[in-house]
Amino acid sequence: MNILVTGGAGYIGSHLVRVLASAGHACVVYDNLCSGHAAAIRGTQLVEGDINNHEALAAALRGHNVEAVIHLAALIEAAESVENPGRYFRNNSLGGLTLLEAMRSAGVAKLVFSSTAAVYGQPERIPICEEDRTDPINPYGASKRCVEYMLEAFARAYGAGFVSLRYFNVAGAAPEGDIGEDHRPETHLIPLVLQVPLGRRGSVKIFGEDYDTPDGTCIRDYIHVMDLAAAHVLALEAIEPGQLKVFNLGNGQGFSVREVIEACREVTGHEIPAESAPRRRGDPPKLVASCQKAETELGWRRQFADLQTIVAHAWNWHKSHPNGFA
Ligand code: UDP
Repeated sequence: MNILVTGGAGYIGSHLVRVLASAGHACVVYDNLCSGHAAAIRGTQLVEGDINNHEALAAALRGHNVEAVIHLAALIEAAESVENPGRYFRNNSLGGLTLLEAMRSAGVAKLVFSSTAAVYGQPERIPICEEDRTDPINPYGASKRCVEYMLEAFARAYGAGFVSLRYFNVAGAAPEGDIGEDHRPETHLIPLVLQVPLGRRGSVKIFGEDYDTPDGTCIRDYIHVMDLAAAHVLALEAIEPGQLKVFNLGNGQGFSVREVIEACREVTGHEIPAESAPRRRGDPPKLVASCQKAETELGWRRQFADLQTIVAHAWNWHKSHPNGFA
């Protein structure tokens, strides 16, 4: 299929483009490069444009005979969204609407949406299932949930077909080690911890050690970026007209912040001093996915499920590219 990947030059997008190409799809990336890197998608067509530019989107869809869209372009920092909610609703929610309307005008009726575990807020049970209550506790989660509501309405009104994939904590890098995570500034746990063995910081901060969890630190479900990308290929095949299907994508297993730091110590063989810091706003104590639905309905199987492998692949990338794509 001819696929437009919005946000395709970002961390997840660049891995996704690689997986789509190896599955035989033709990709065009649509990205404003505000946080993505052209160097991460060498050899892939890139259209530079903003997600709120209807005309540019419609032209890219028509000009490349696009048959399906995978929509990743978004702002992703929960803490920043608490400080600056308008920016999140404009980019993520309004951007989603702009894209849906551009797709309608270009006659494209299939989309896979990059959603998030943040739509659940404080989950009512662990592991979290797709039908569980959604009640986001930060504007980031709310901005993504808004788009899911739009997808539901557009599917019903116009017969378009959508899949929303709710990502848990995406980590790791392509096993080849030539692409990986390069956020500026970096806020995610694993790349920040790996900055210690890289000699870029002396210690790592633990945001909150008084949560109601076994070691007091937050528990998250870390999923390898290549496994996550593979699920998008299956999601494209699962699209049905007039329907929105929703799937969690995680590992089904939770690790605390302390356990992640320990795994980084083991993989790198380096001491990693950790200091206690206050809780970060908008952080739920525990997020772990049930991925049974994706396994059963999409036939999704994880290839790199264990935390050590996820950290080892991330380390492989950071060690060989200490300045990222710069
Ligand atoms: N975290 C931390 N120190 C850091 C960065 C993150 O303790 O320097 C914690 C954060 O509070 C959360 C977990 O690590 O509990 C994962 O955070 P990240 O930002 O990687 O992903 P999120 O869960 O926010 O999507």
